[in-house]
Amino acid sequence: MKNVAIFPGSFDPVTKGHEEIIRRAASLFEKLYVAIGVNKKKKYCFDLSQRKRFLERTFSDVANIEVVTYEGLTVSLCNSLGAGVLVRGLRSAIDFEYEYKIGAFNEIMSSGLETIYLAASPGYTHLSSTIVREIYLSGGDITPFVPEAVGSILQDG
Ligand code: ADP
Repeated sequence: MKNVAIFPGSFDPVTKGHEEIIRRAASLFEKLYVAIGVNKKKKYCFDLSQRKRFLERTFSDVANIEVVTYEGLTVSLCNSLGAGVLVRGLRSAIDFEYEYKIGAFNEIMSSGLETIYLAASPGYTHLSSTIVREIYLSGGDITPFVPEAVGSILQDG
């Protein structure tokens, strides 16, 4: 069970920071599910099918990555997929504070689940989906910040 991991997030949109950390995570496990969380109350910039397409195209060259979508608790998804490890990325102490709390709750709700944290590579610590969305919604070019596949999808439609 520990050789199956899950990397959850909103990916609105996936950034080069996510891509880098997901590729590293995929090299550590036999199988990595990249799971797009859906919160009905949240408004997204890119709809679910677009976010899924971005991720699938970005990781089409990585055989052990599968993109899934889910609603509800991440720990429930881990149980249903048989994933023993939850992977999260850390960019800063602020991320750590937040992730540590979530990890503690997940540990209580699903005691066998291990959360591991991968530190962002130095070039990507500044990158967030929030900033990329702001640039996009203001009509700016987001291609320097997103995986190549996302740039091509946005260009070709
Ligand atoms: P959420 O809405 O759950 O925070 P995100 O899509 O923003 O989802 O992020 C998913 C995961 O990716 C989180 O663990 C986050 O810390 C990590 N992450 C986001 N941006 C980066 C980055 N630039 N480098 C490394 N990890 C990142």
